[in-house]
Amino acid sequence: MTTTPQPEVLRAPLVVEFPFTRSLGPVQSAFLTGLRHRTVLGVRTTDGRTLVPPVEYDPVTADEIRDLVQVAETGTVTTWAWNPEPRRGQPLDTPFAWVLVTLDGADTGLLHALDAPGPDAVRTGQRVRIRWAEERTGAITDIACFEPDDSGPGSTRVAPHTGEFEDPVTGIVAHARLDYTYSPGGAQTRYINALADNRTVGERCPSCHKVYIPPRGACPTCGVATTDQVEVGPAGTVTTYCIVNVKAKNLDIELPYVYAHIALDGADLALHGRIAGIPYDQVRMGLRVEPVWSEDGRYPDHYRPTGEPDADYDTYKELI
Ligand SMILES: [Zn+2]
Repeated sequence: MTTTPQPEVLRAPLVVEFPFTRSLGPVQSAFLTGLRHRTVLGVRTTDGRTLVPPVEYDPVTADEIRDLVQVAETGTVTTWAWNPEPRRGQPLDTPFAWVLVTLDGADTGLLHALDAPGPDAVRTGQRVRIRWAEERTGAITDIACFEPDDSGPGSTRVAPHTGEFEDPVTGIVAHARLDYTYSPGGAQTRYINALADNRTVGERCPSCHKVYIPPRGACPTCGVATTDQVEVGPAGTVTTYCIVNVKAKNLDIELPYVYAHIALDGADLALHGRIAGIPYDQVRMGLRVEPVWSEDGRYPDHYRPTGEPDADYDTYKELI
């Protein structure tokens, strides 16, 4: 048996990052503003339990709940997990424990970090205390972390609280960030490598003979691997398009511009591309276009008209 040598499959870091802005209802607003004042607020449910962190609706009855109470800064660890390698943006930059803490007076757990020298110094049932951040802004990070506390069992009494503070926090911006190592797989590696030679190479299904571009490695209709490589294009036909009027961050393209589905000659699937070299309001279905390669020659930057007559609708109607 012989094997065909395969080019190395591509891998690259991919970061998805965005700020998520959300408004706070009256309960979350009181909770976060309270933290700025070193005050931990919970909310009483219809059956008399105290939820910390508080929520707006009773998880059992779905009743709206607004009965705020203040609980203690001390509590008990109910469960924990050791985090040996803190990541960017986590509460501490040295190894720490994630802990679920039931604060004295509360009936539910608050998730946060416990500053401890090692996993041997953490246990369920351990008494802990809030370490407040020096600068507090009305965010969960106003609790810097928990630290071990040896002052003994605390009072479980709670004090009613109006939840009213000066200058309440009404919204937060939560930064979301996901770090991936992305691999496009064998088929798209071949596709990307061919693009660097200014060739567009799809793959054909051995069963239905459709040519997929970009290839995903299998035919979604027949459920079999696509094995034959087929060079398509370079020219193609606009099958449908839209006019973009919204500016995208990190994209230096003058508005408005046209983004289109383009069926490259020989392909049985349209791909996406930007159309330029023609006024945006003259782009039309059936327009014949060809790729204009990026400065580094690694991918089509956009497509421009070839000057050929428009394609007949019947030639691309199945590809819209
Ligand atoms: Zn097929």
